[in-house]
Amino acid sequence: MDLNLEAAFDEPIDLSHQFDFPAAVLARPELVSLSHVSFTGRLERQELGFVLNGRVVFDGVTACARCLAPVPFRRSSEAYWRFAPAHAKPREDEKGEKVRGDPEDGLELSAADLDVLYYDDLVVALDPLVEEQVQLELPLKALCRDECRGLCPMCGADRNLAPCACIPPADERWKTLRTLLDPGN
Ligand SMILES: [Zn+2]
Ligand SMILES: [Zn+2]
Repeated sequence: MDLNLEAAFDEPIDLSHQFDFPAAVLARPELVSLSHVSFTGRLERQELGFVLNGRVVFDGVTACARCLAPVPFRRSSEAYWRFAPAHAKPREDEKGEKVRGDPEDGLELSAADLDVLYYDDLVVALDPLVEEQVQLELPLKALCRDECRGLCPMCGADRNLAPCACIPPADERWKTLRTLLDPGN
């Protein structure tokens, strides 16, 4: 979805849009499925550019980080973006120091403006911004439950269902000690 900033030139506009991000785009192998991502927000003109405030809501299913069981999740988060014209972007001068946009423009940007997105033609692609928000909100190392025992690394059995008969490989460092204690071994 392309956001036409000009639409909010005279007064704020309310936006609502549904995005779909294919799992391949998100590149999160633990993600089993993802719903539509709904965005609702308000675009407002600001002193220098525009501000978009909104909420990103989605749900999905991810895999437990230990046993791979499906773990449903739901996320709802605030998002905030600021847009400023490209000509207001701080430039690097020949000494490598940041300099402000042309002072003739009467533009003032502060250090907090590092997260500002600069536009050339009053059109901003919203998809990558919302996708970034989704990436930030996707669960990391979700667990089906805190005490999940995970899968046996040897036979792959789900140790939550039943203990398996696997014996962990003996630690070679103890071999000498065992021989000393039990010379008949
Ligand atoms: Zn689990
Ligand atoms: Zn096992």
